[in-house]
Formats: sequence, C-alpha cells, structure tokens
Amino acid sequence: MNTTTTATETRVQILGGIEVIGGSVVLVSTPNARVILDFGMRDLNTGLLQTPGGPRRGHELVDLLRAAELPVSPGLYDPAQLASDPQLAASTRANRDARPTAVFLSHAHIDHEGALGFLDPSLPLYASEETTVMLNALRDTGEYRPGHPLAPIAVDTGETIRVGDLTVELIPVDHDIPGACGVLVTAPDGSVVYTGDLNFHRDGGMRSHAFAERIRGVDLLVTETTMLSFDHPPITTRSEAEIEEILAAELTGVPGLVLMSAYPRDAERAQRLIALARTHGRELVWPSRDAALLAAMGVSDVTSWASERAESDSRPLAAGINRVTVAAVAAEPGHYLVQPDGHDAPALADLPIVSGSTVWVHSQGEPLGPFMPDWEVFQLWLQKLGIAVIEAGSTGHALGHDLLAFVEHVAPGCVLPIHGKRPEALTVSMPRVLPRYGDVYLLDGTVVGHELVSVAS
Ligand SMILES: [Zn+2]
Ligand SMILES: [Zn+2]
Repeated sequence: MNTTTTATETRVQILGGIEVIGGSVVLVSTPNARVILDFGMRDLNTGLLQTPGGPRRGHELVDLLRAAELPVSPGLYDPAQLASDPQLAASTRANRDARPTAVFLSHAHIDHEGALGFLDPSLPLYASEETTVMLNALRDTGEYRPGHPLAPIAVDTGETIRVGDLTVELIPVDHDIPGACGVLVTAPDGSVVYTGDLNFHRDGGMRSHAFAERIRGVDLLVTETTMLSFDHPPITTRSEAEIEEILAAELTGVPGLVLMSAYPRDAERAQRLIALARTHGRELVWPSRDAALLAAMGVSDVTSWASERAESDSRPLAAGINRVTVAAVAAEPGHYLVQPDGHDAPALADLPIVSGSTVWVHSQGEPLGPFMPDWEVFQLWLQKLGIAVIEAGSTGHALGHDLLAFVEHVAPGCVLPIHGKRPEALTVSMPRVLPRYGDVYLLDGTVVGHELVSVAS
C-alpha cells in the first residue's frame, strides 16, 4: 500500500524592520493559516513622508503605500481605506487570501502597533491583557490613530490561540512598557519565536530570563538587535532604583520647581515617580494628554492642569484626576514636579522657572532625543530659560552582550536578526540569516522563494 504524507512547510517572511529600528512586521504561514506578528510604523523622520509634511490625515494608508513605507503585497489592508486609489485597491483585492489569518501584537510601542489601523478590520488582533488595556486607553483618551480604531482581544499568560494549524502563545518579557511579550508560534513542522523588544536589566530581567528558558531549542528565532546598531549606545542602562535616586537628588536639592520628562506609556514607572514625588512633598503634574492616558491605564493619584492652562493638545480629564493651576505652582514651586509637554516648548515659559536652578530630569519622555524633530526647539527653550538637563533614562533594549548571551542560551536552529541597523553585528555560534525583503524562509533559514514586497529602505 502506498501512503503519501504531505509535509507542511512553514514559511517566514520579514515584511518590516530590516536594518531599521522599528516598523517590525513578521509573517508566519503554512498552506492552511497565517499569523502576522506586529504591524509597526517606521519613524517618519526621513524619506518621502518626513516631518513637516507627512501623510495626509485620513489618507495615510494610500500615502504610505505610494511612498513605499509599508509592505504592499500581502492583501492584508482595509479595502475601505484604499478606495481613493483604484490601482492599490485592485492590487489588495488580487492578493486577498482565504487562509485563516490573525494578528498578534508584542507590545504597544508605535514601531510595533502604529500601522495596525490599516489592516483589514476583519482580522482578529490578539495582545496581552496589559497591552489591550493600553490600546483601549489610547483610543478612549483621544489619541489619534491613523486608520480604523482597534478592537484587541486579550490573551492571558499561558493561554494558546489556534489559527488553523498554527498555535500562538504570548510570553512576557522585560521591556519599558507594561505587557510586553515575545511570541511563540508552533507549527506542524517546528516552531518560530519572535522576541518583540526585550531587555535583561529591568527588574533584573526576570521575565526575559524565563522567556529565554521557555523557548530554548526553538527552530527559528527572530530577534530584535536594537543596541547592536551602535558602537557607542546613545542611552545607558539604569535600574529603576538608580533612576529614582537621580530624581530624588533633584527633588531634595532644588528648592523650587523641578521639571521631568517620563514616558507615559511606561505606566509602572509613572506610578512609582508619582509616589516618589509625594515622599518628597511634591505633586507630579502631567500634561492633560498624559494624565488622561495614565488614569485610563489604572494609575492612581494622577494630577494635571486646571482647565484654564493653555495646552496645544489638551484632553478631557476623568473626574478622579487632581487639578492644579499654574498660579498654585507659581505660589509654591518647591511643592511641585512638572512634566512639560514635549511638543509644547513655548509653554515652559508659563512656569516659575529660576534660571540656573530649575532642572529638567529627562527619563525617556518627549522629546525623546536628538533624533526627534521637536528636540532641538525644546533644547533652545531650555537654554533660553537657563534650565539644566539631568539624564535619568534607561534603554528598554537589551545591551549587545546581553543579547548575544540570550541567543546563545536559547540556541535556536537558526537566528534571524531584525529591528536594528546592524543585523550583521549579531555574531553567534549557530546559523544566522541576514533577512532581505521578499525572501521566504523555511524554519531552518533556507530561502525557498522570493515575493515582491515594497518597503522603504
Ligand atoms: Zn521596537
Ligand atoms: Zn518597544
């Protein structure tokens, strides 16, 4: 008797995130199913859609595809958003795929979730509970998202989701945002892991170490390589205790107002900074945009401005949020720690700044750094007002040596480096494939085909 077995060959494609930090998109498919891991937006600081200018509001998908800033081929986009360009609409229709398809999000950073609103809204979107809370909080507090609103489905730790013959699990990692996960995809012929973004210094790297242990021996590892992009990393690593120590020294040493810039999506750190300010007799005042988001994410004791404060991007505030006036801060500046709006540099001059005494403690809030368009003007205002900058940031990404140790520990059959400018700097003992757009990989890294995708380089 003749028996024929059909081997399922799982295929992996990198649709975004090659030789850039951000814009990650990974597609894993079998003849029966597809999963998309992240659908991020590359930063638009360069290229055809750079600031100022950028894609037109409400027409972002068409503009981004025309500028080759998003993959064009896989027939994944929302047809309603392509109506104004018949050619793009026709190509998306032609590429439609009947296989069950689902999207999994590693974490709620824009370079991973920024383009999700362009996907066909019929595709289910899965994310960790904390990531789901954050996406909903962003939506509910009026954060502009290009494309359609998201309706994420929360996945518990340890829960597996079946998509055709693929099984997907989100596994927590340490990053600088709550709910960050790596993704394990188990297929009939093997397994592939995508790290998302991770590090081994936040909270001692507890989650990331457990993740590394859990995925040991995976067939194919798709890993972030952010910190291998630099000979001299632009940002150091600090423990949360070290960050708090730096801020505490300023809260004690500066008699008047202290300014701070923290990243509001890092809700855990935000909650600790609010408490730290309280222990130093100060109230931490956030711009209304940040305050609304923090409160919606469940952070307590959030304070923002009274409604008369002029903000260029003010948001309605929930009833439980404390309010202060600029006059109250001016009357007792030593009782406050203020987070200025990084996009609103001229508003710094509203505050009771004392030249040569007031400091700005920068801990990964906006403006993020010299690579951001609003950095320079913010620095000009700091200089004009005589405000010194105190660095208190910590990268969310694994340092180079931690990353190399991680990959060696996991010992995958093959590793595919993305989300970094120098993937070739990931020098490891196992087979490594430097990904190229269009290449289709088997789980052992063999290239079995080439499908045209268009992505800005
Ligand atoms: Zn990232
Ligand atoms: Zn990230």
